[in-house]
Amino acid sequence: MKKVLVNGAGGFIGGHMVKRLKAEGHWVRAVDIKSHEFAAPPADEFILGDLRDQNVVREVVENIDEVYQFAADMGGAGYIFTGKHDADVMHNSATINLNTLHFGTKAGVRKFFYSSSACMYPEYNQKDRLNPNCSEDSAYPAAPDSEYGWEKLFSERLYFAYMRNYGVEIRVARFHNIFGPEGTWTGGREKAPAAMCRKVVEAEDGGEIEIWGDGEQTRSFLYIDECIEGVRRLMESDFTGPVNIGSAEMVTINQLAQMVMKIAGKSLTVKHIPGPLGVRGRNSDNRLIAEKLGWKPSWPLCKGLEVNYRWIESQFKLFQAELHTSSLVGAGSYK
Ligand code: NAD
Repeated sequence: MKKVLVNGAGGFIGGHMVKRLKAEGHWVRAVDIKSHEFAAPPADEFILGDLRDQNVVREVVENIDEVYQFAADMGGAGYIFTGKHDADVMHNSATINLNTLHFGTKAGVRKFFYSSSACMYPEYNQKDRLNPNCSEDSAYPAAPDSEYGWEKLFSERLYFAYMRNYGVEIRVARFHNIFGPEGTWTGGREKAPAAMCRKVVEAEDGGEIEIWGDGEQTRSFLYIDECIEGVRRLMESDFTGPVNIGSAEMVTINQLAQMVMKIAGKSLTVKHIPGPLGVRGRNSDNRLIAEKLGWKPSWPLCKGLEVNYRWIESQFKLFQAELHTSSLVGAGSYK
């Protein structure tokens, strides 16, 4: 049994990781600036604390063997690509990573997992929507299209600098669009699969949904259980990364919309409107993970989407029922 710290455990991936680590029998301390929105993670300790605060970090890394660092100031395209949150995103996430490594290393933590993102890949390799290049060795010369991506790149380098200079073990994964139940589905920080499911849940059959841009931009989406499996395998392997953890099933956003409509059994018109978009094409290149870990994600997108759609549908119904019982119909909004 290891003593594990999960930073960002009040969030989507961190919350799922706590469940997995507990199921494996580890002792888990969880930290987040907020409680989990949907399900309290079954941690041995849950500490509400701001990881930008050195005093908080100094305490939470005490007596810990391994750290999973998921805490970040982040969201989907509507949060990352408007430019309105750039300073906060860079300052907050970099401070969390600086504190975690500095105080963790001092306290004797032996191993760190860091959750980087495909957003660190250069924009120039992601202009051809049908042939994006996101192989791990294509990261340089660096040219991410967002400050979020630049911070991820800086922090990747920071973790590996600690590995070289302080002898700690480091594992770095570059996640590609992780989705699934207990992820943000409304409020402005939600990502494409959750936003699409919500829009389709809300729409009446025969109605209309809006999509940012022409919908021909490509992406791949990985179901949460596969992400957690990949991270655990990476942590138990000898490979440091950075390595992509993502799906290689590339679809257009229009195709994503059609898949969700099919799951819902609804026929909807798509209206294309201007909005923040990100790169033109992106897909996970899974050659390195297959080579180094002898494993790669295999769930088809439609399988995870079905689970996610049903969960968002249930959340929506729950919200409506709550509104009804508190007689607030028409007076409130979950958005
Ligand atoms: P999330 O927003 O659900 O979780 C991040 C958590 O960090 C939140 O609960 C938030 O409250 C917490 N946090 C932020 N600032 C904090 C602070 N100062 N102190 C303490 N806690 C703080 O995001 P997620 O989807 O679970 O992502 C986890 C990690 O994976 C992030 O680092 C993210 O950048 C990375 N990532 C995620 C995806 C994805 O598709 N979800 C893709 C690429 C990379």
